[in-house]
Formats: sequence, C-alpha cells, structure tokens
Amino acid sequence: MGCGTSKVLPEPPKDVHLDLVKKVEPYCGYKNDIYKHFIKDDGGDAIKSGFPSPPRHTNPYASGCSPTRLEQPEPRKNRVAKYRAKFDPRVTAKYDIKALIGRGSFSRVVRVEHKATKQPYAIKMIETKYREGREVCESELCVLRRVRHTNIIQLIEVFETQERVYMVMELATGGELFDRIIAKGSFTERDATRVLQMVLDGVKYLHTLGITHRDLKPENLLYYHPGMDSKIMITDFGLASARKKGDDCLMKTTCGTPEYIAPEILVRKPYTNSVDMWALGVISYILLSGTMPFEDDNRTRLYRQILKGKYSYSGEPWPSVSNLAKDFIDRLLTVDPADRMTALQALKHPWVVSMAASSSMKNLHRSISQNLLKRASSRCQSTKSAQSTRSSRSTKSNKSRRVRERELRELNLRYQQQYNG
Ligand code: ADP
Ligand code: MG
Repeated sequence: MGCGTSKVLPEPPKDVHLDLVKKVEPYCGYKNDIYKHFIKDDGGDAIKSGFPSPPRHTNPYASGCSPTRLEQPEPRKNRVAKYRAKFDPRVTAKYDIKALIGRGSFSRVVRVEHKATKQPYAIKMIETKYREGREVCESELCVLRRVRHTNIIQLIEVFETQERVYMVMELATGGELFDRIIAKGSFTERDATRVLQMVLDGVKYLHTLGITHRDLKPENLLYYHPGMDSKIMITDFGLASARKKGDDCLMKTTCGTPEYIAPEILVRKPYTNSVDMWALGVISYILLSGTMPFEDDNRTRLYRQILKGKYSYSGEPWPSVSNLAKDFIDRLLTVDPADRMTALQALKHPWVVSMAASSSMKNLHRSISQNLLKRASSRCQSTKSAQSTRSSRSTKSNKSRRVRERELRELNLRYQQQYNG
C-alpha cells in the first residue's frame, strides 16, 4: 500500500551486533562461490528502490539463458530451478527450495520444505555484501533472536556465507494483510478490530522488550494461513531497533516508509516506541477506508501533511464509520507522541473492546474495502462512478443510520458479487 516508495534506511546502527544470532553457521571459505550472481541475475529492484545496484551479469550464459531468452518471461519451473541452484549447499542439503514468494530491496524470500520432516518454512536470503543489506540483516537477526510470540514470525535457524545470510523462518501462507482484504471484497469494523488486536498484542510484546519495529505497514503483516480464522503475524524487522529490556533511551535514526513515518521522526526529534503507534494509526485508517490518511506523490508535500497531522474523514465510507473507530484513529494519529495511545491503551480502547465482544453478524453493517477494490480492479470502473454519485447523495440527504447501513450492505454485496464474478 502506498505509492510504492522505498524505505528510508537508517544511519549505521551502533548498538546492534550479530553475536545475538540464535545459530549461525559461519562461512567456511568456498573458493568458487557459485551463488555470487544471485542478485545480479535479476537486479532491477535495487535500481527501482534507489539502493546501490550490483553490476549486471556480464555473461548471459552463466545463468543458463541466451540473451534473447532473457527478455522472455521464464517458465515458473525454470525460475525455481534457477533460485534453487543459487542457494548454499548447506541450505539445499536440508531444505528443498519450492518457490519464490517475496522480494525486498536486499532480500528474496522463498518457500522451502524441510527434507526430513516435510515441514514447510520460509527462507529469507539477504545480501550482506552491501552496507545497507548488512545493517538490515543485523537488525532483523538481533530482534528475531530475542522474540517468541504468536503474532510474530519465528526464526528457526540461520546460515551465513560471506556475501549473504539465509534466515529460516516460520512460513506464513495466508498472504499480506491488504491482499487479503482485496481478495475478500469487504471488511467490517469488527474484522478491523480483530486484526488490530492481534497486531497490538505483538507490538505490546515488542515494546515491553524494548524493541521498536519502525516499519509497521500492511505489507509486513502476514496471515498465517489462508483460512478466515487465521492469525496475523508481524514480520520484517530489518529497520527495528532493539534496546535492552527497561532501557528507555531515545532513538534518533531517521527511517521507515514515507507514508507511515511519524512526525517526530521527520523533525529529527529523539523518539520512542510511539512511532509504531503512529504507523498503527495509519494502518487503522487504511483498514477502515481503503485509502491512505497521508498521500502525495511529492515527498515534501507528504511530509508537510504528516507534520501537521492533516487528514480527513470526508468521502466514502467515512460517514458510516462509527465515531468510536474515528476516536481510535485520532488517538493514534496525534502529532504529539506524549498524547498518543500506547499499545496497552489501544488494546483497552472502547472500540477494540466493544467490537471484540460483539457477534460478527451484528456488526456486518458497512462496507470498508470499496476503495481498495477500486484501486485493485479496473473491472469495477462503471460501478465506481455509480457508487460515488449515490454516496454523495446519501450523505447530503441525512438519511437515518439504519437506512444508510442497509444501503451500504447492499452496495457491499454488489461489489462482492461483481468482484468474484
Ligand atoms: P523486506 O525487508 O525486503 O521488505 P520482508 O521480510 O518484508 O522483506 O519480505 C518481503 C516479502 O516476502 C513480504 O512482504 C512477504 O510477502 C514475503 N515474506 C516474508 N517473510 C515471509 C514468511 N515468513 N512467510 C511468508 N512470506 C513471507
Ligand atoms: Mg517488508
């Protein structure tokens, strides 16, 4: 979500050491590192995201493809074989590489199967040749080594070579939070509070340990399995800051993803865990509306909006969102971090508490993801305009809440039918 802008990376961390890694199998000096072209083969991400791009492959035949074939989309089977061939033999001796499931700026995430137990896992492979990759890797390992929580991805083991690190992690098969909302076609306030409750539980745990995630966003919240009742898990600790338990020392590093960065980070004030709570305010806003509270292609204008804490509840579906939900967001998108809710306070907010206690049918009263659907599918084009005319009319005529709710329910149903059909 967002405009696909790159992360703002931290300055070199001074307090993070690799010695906290659970289990590192050190590099044992392979003379011919056959994996060294892993990133070079399919570079491009680095260019897009503004990070240093490794030199392109000089020998097109080294990857088993002729120059012309390189321009054609490769069959999935070949791609998997290519990735498999680029893994360290110690990793492939133990795990079968099945498929590429995610890409980051310095990382590739693959689905694997443990050969002996047939248990599926994810392996995140990070390039550590470049400083940024090394720092991201160190932060991630430092945190994953310390945490054990049902809503946080668990590290299983780590393999290290001279140029990259392979982290074996629990596999989340349910996809990213926003892919789920789009696929589902609708999202109720109750659904939103269920998600937020799980994320808040994980965040509260992290904050108690002195860990600030610093990059909370829908892409880093993964569903454990594809089922409706799946738990959600926090992942990607590449920008996290880990301090000793009880150490409340302030952080200064400017980092994060632009749309989710808290104002105090932008003005380079020392900051605390509350930057994660700001990001949760942004996520809550998106969950309820399918739109971003702060959005502008121009970075300076975007930051100006954030610094002012300038967002609005105008347009659909905000007229039918409960005041409690808006109050919840307002208490997170508070410019002064001292006035922002903590994770514990957010968990105790009446919106979260009352929604969690209610039954799903009673609260299936409004559509939330139409904006996400609009973005996701051009097939919805005609209905989109019909809907916006209709909703502005309904707002103006000050209809009773029950009528508005019924109308939105019908609208939501139509969206779902159209999207699924
Ligand atoms: P980056 O720091 O490069 O953003 P992430 O850790 O966020 O890397 O991983 C990139 C993507 O890979 C995620 O957005 C997600 O789609 C996928 N992914 C990462 N870890 C897992 C996992 N444990 N299980 C399933 N998918 C994962
Ligand atoms: Mg990520």
